Amino acid sequence: MKAIQTMEVIHSIADLRSRIREYRRKNDGSVGFVPTMGYLHEGHASLLRKARSQSGLVVLSIFVNPLQFGPGEDFERYPRNTERDLEVAEAAGADLVFMPSVSEMYPTPTRTTVAVSGLTSRLCGASRPGHFDGVATVVSKLFHIVQPDQAFFGLKDAQQVAVIQQMVQDLNLPVEIVPCPTLREQDGLAMSSRNVYLSDEERKQALVLSQALDKAKEFVLSRPNFNTAELESLVRKHIATAPLAVIDYAEVLAFPTLEPFENSTHTHSIILALAVKFGKTRLIDNVIIQLRK
Ligand code: AMP
Repeated sequence: MKAIQTMEVIHSIADLRSRIREYRRKNDGSVGFVPTMGYLHEGHASLLRKARSQSGLVVLSIFVNPLQFGPGEDFERYPRNTERDLEVAEAAGADLVFMPSVSEMYPTPTRTTVAVSGLTSRLCGASRPGHFDGVATVVSKLFHIVQPDQAFFGLKDAQQVAVIQQMVQDLNLPVEIVPCPTLREQDGLAMSSRNVYLSDEERKQALVLSQALDKAKEFVLSRPNFNTAELESLVRKHIATAPLAVIDYAEVLAFPTLEPFENSTHTHSIILALAVKFGKTRLIDNVIIQLRK
């Protein structure tokens, strides 16, 4: 049952806080939170639906956070479409949509940064210096504003899930992090707001990511003593069949520690994580594989 009949769009922190306070005063249901940067697709909608099924009040935030973009990245041209976002949000069951401006979130230059060490030194943390500080800082601000009981994150950004879980544990934040599976297009491409940047040819060739992950999974599950270097090489070779693909990283690590993986140790899950550029567009994808040990 929806907590609020008509979805409400809220721009100020004070209004959002008072709306959530009012909900809590009148109901004992939980508050579920889905933070996004907008340009919503089925992947985002799946998080909202999950929140709808578990929480009394579903809060969605749409905020393109400048702090998590590096110089020369796509902050300025990040795709935006508020009208469509609100339709998707409403259909997926959001109650409150929080859409703050940059000056609402950062009225003065921010002097406080939340930095999660270790987990952020590899993969996207290595390729995008400062990115996870920006993510951890904004998510921690949003958690303080919304004070959710549960927050829903997609495993498409598996390193982000690991970083947020670590932050919540280290800072004793009273929120349950709910990791959700990656939604894909019918042909396997992981859904992403950035897919709109791809030309037709790039879009076709981008299929090598999910194909490489499928091959990797098959390889791992059929060879209990597989060799990590061999696995990475198999993946790299498949991606190289797409002439437009430029690999940023293709790495196998233990999950969720993101430590280097040795097949002799008792790790139960591994992640094979990819970041591949097609022209100016950088796509990420991953598969998490449970080892039969
Ligand atoms: P973004 O708007 O890209 O920052 O993503 C907001 C949330 O949606 C994050 O928790 C993402 O991991 C999640 N998300 C993005 N793409 C997908 C997808 N294809 N499947 C599931 N969740 C996703």
